[in-house]
Amino acid sequence: MRTQVAIIGAGPAGMCLALLLSEAGVDVAVVERRARDHVISRGRAGLLDQVTVGLLARLGADRRLRSGGLVHAGVALQFGEDRLRVDLKALTGGEVVIYSQRDVMGDLLEIAEARGVRVVFDALDAQPEEVGGDRPAVTWRGDGVGCRLDCDFIAGCDGSQGVSRASVPQPASFERAYDCAWVGILADAPSVHAELIYASHDRGFALASMRSRSRGRYYLQCGSQDRAEDWPDDRFWAELAARLGEEAAAGLVRGPVLEKSITAVRACVIEPMRHGRLFLVGDAAHITPPTGARGLNLAVSDAALLSRSLIAYYREGSAEDLDTYSARALDRVWAAMRLSTWMTELTHVLPGTDPLEQRLRRAEFDHLRHSTAAQAALAQMYVGAPLDEGAAPVASAATRADEADLHDIPGTTVFTGAQARKGYHLNQFCLSLMKPENRTRFRADERAYVDAWAMSEAQKRAILARDFNAAITEGANIYFLAKLFAADGQSFQQAAGAMTGLSAEDYARMMLSGGRSPQGARSIRGGH
Ligand SMILES: Cc1cc2nc3c(=O)[nH]c(=O)nc-3n(C[C@H](O)[C@H](O)[C@H](O)COP(=O)(O)OP(=O)(O)OC[C@H]3O[C@@H](n4cnc5c(N)ncnc54)[C@H](O)[C@@H]3O)c2cc1C
Repeated sequence: MRTQVAIIGAGPAGMCLALLLSEAGVDVAVVERRARDHVISRGRAGLLDQVTVGLLARLGADRRLRSGGLVHAGVALQFGEDRLRVDLKALTGGEVVIYSQRDVMGDLLEIAEARGVRVVFDALDAQPEEVGGDRPAVTWRGDGVGCRLDCDFIAGCDGSQGVSRASVPQPASFERAYDCAWVGILADAPSVHAELIYASHDRGFALASMRSRSRGRYYLQCGSQDRAEDWPDDRFWAELAARLGEEAAAGLVRGPVLEKSITAVRACVIEPMRHGRLFLVGDAAHITPPTGARGLNLAVSDAALLSRSLIAYYREGSAEDLDTYSARALDRVWAAMRLSTWMTELTHVLPGTDPLEQRLRRAEFDHLRHSTAAQAALAQMYVGAPLDEGAAPVASAATRADEADLHDIPGTTVFTGAQARKGYHLNQFCLSLMKPENRTRFRADERAYVDAWAMSEAQKRAILARDFNAAITEGANIYFLAKLFAADGQSFQQAAGAMTGLSAEDYARMMLSGGRSPQGARSIRGGH
């Protein structure tokens, strides 16, 4: 067998990479050790940042996410009984979405199957071969038979227990094992709070999260040697109530426990993320402590970065991007590691912590409470820095705080740099309608025409439905959008009327009589 890119591992990293490459016409095949059902049944992550959500939308893998995902515009940090809500939306314009890794995997595999992407399950003893030369290959055993896949490149997407990382000779390895673990449950009961609560208590850390409106996901810091059996349900619920504080505990619903597991709290990064024709992607190269919820998000952003480099190689014959993949991915990895270790050390009570450290953690929390710039820096990393920005722009936290004001104007989407990046392909599509031959092709088959542009499904839907407000939310610029409504034979006045819910005549009347009333809300945050 032969392919252009052989991918080891059908987790989030492997399947996102496979779909991105096959979408661009690059031939791929995925070799996975476990059965399909096992891959889908692994419940782990649940918090998707905006980069992951955007990428799933681009792949058309967000249909269920849009209806079933829980959008969170904020997150709570709590010290004892003091709670701070970090307003992600106001501070960054971004949000996070709660949607389980099981569902992400189900969606990705379904799309891969529909598009005919080759995935070989139950592939035992997979091994990357000859990665230092020009003719790499992946070998494995399937149904007792030895198999070989020749390729140009190998993507090692096989997680922290896989074989790929061992093929990087003498990597630099940065590791930290915290002297604690998490015991986690999935409960058939609604979560105690609509958004996540990261609670730091003298007894240890607690996280109140959820997987759906009716299922709470809770974690407690526990001993590094603890087993799930050490935490009978009653003990877990009582400890959770104690650590979440009186107010939250009063609203805690104790439902049947569906799952209980232990997760290590550790950090590990392998550098570089490449050896010869083998590239490491996702957990194969790095593990962040679970506190920052970065693992799946990093796996997806690594896949996006590597896919761009490989596509550039096949389209333009340029290996330049491949040569910088490791450094670019590591920029994001270290930014995510910084967030996750910072959140871990801020919220956990680690064995041996002295009273001075306890007070410093409290001082850090108080600083966060009183500094919008510090909250903005945290929020920016938590919602995920856009891929093109590389590492999260911590230095510009104050600017971010100022930008938060731009997102505080009711009914108005300000065309910021981030919006311009988000809407780049959408606006280029609009511009293409300047040419009569393109207008003819668009009118002949609108769906086929928009599908030829690298837009997200949400952007395409906004165009096809002529939902101009949704298009602007998705990054359209009104002057570019004008090409679309002009192509439909509409005037600015008609389009603006439609966007404000008025007829063209009523809109004209309103404008002629002095424009919109000065009465009304002026601040979303302030509610006035
Ligand atoms: C309890 C918990 C909660 C988490 N919460 C979050 C969260 O909220 N947000 C977040 O972003 N991340 C979270 N994570 C982390 C996230 O689950 C992982 O980072 C993510 O799964 C990494 O994806 P991956 O594709 O790199 O690796 P994996 O998901 O590990 O996939 C690797 C794949 O490779 C296969 N494989 C392994 N070895 C071989 C081999 N030799 N041959 C062939 N195939 C092989 C495996 O079977 C697997 O299918 C959490 C993790 C845990 C444990």
